[in-house]
Parts: sequence; structure tokens; C-alpha cells
Amino acid sequence: MSDEADIADENIELSRLAAIEACRRQPRLVPKGTCWFCDEPVAQLKKYCDSDCADDYELEQAALMRAGRPHFIDHHPD
Ligand SMILES: [Zn+2]
Repeated sequence: MSDEADIADENIELSRLAAIEACRRQPRLVPKGTCWFCDEPVAQLKKYCDSDCADDYELEQAALMRAGRPHFIDHHPD
């Protein structure tokens, strides 16, 4: 019985849990018949019209996430 095997198992379990956690935090996109980024009609079960839109959408979401909630920022202080 080697400890190395136990440690490896533990690492696999930890990264599996991290992946599940990451999925949970990300709102699930469901195919809606149009591209989530540009609203072009797409085939059923597809979320984007092409991989560019998929990338752009993810970038946009990440940017929005970093920006927080824009309506809480007061641009016109009196
Ligand atoms: Zn698109």
C-alpha cells in the first residue's frame, strides 16, 4: 500500500469537486433557438451560431461579472 496512490486519489477528488463548484456558480445557459450573443437563429440544441460568439459571450459575461452591478454605480452625484 503506497501513500502516493492515496494522495493522487485525493487530488482527483478535489479537482472534481472544484469543477462541480465552478459549474454551480455559472448560470446554466439553455439553447433557446437563437445565438446567446448575437441573436442569430441557430439550430436547436445550439447556444451560439459559431465559436466566436461563444468566446465573445463568455468574455462579455466575465466583464459584466468584474464590473459588478452597473445600476448601483452612481454616475451623477448631486
Ligand atoms: Zn452569434
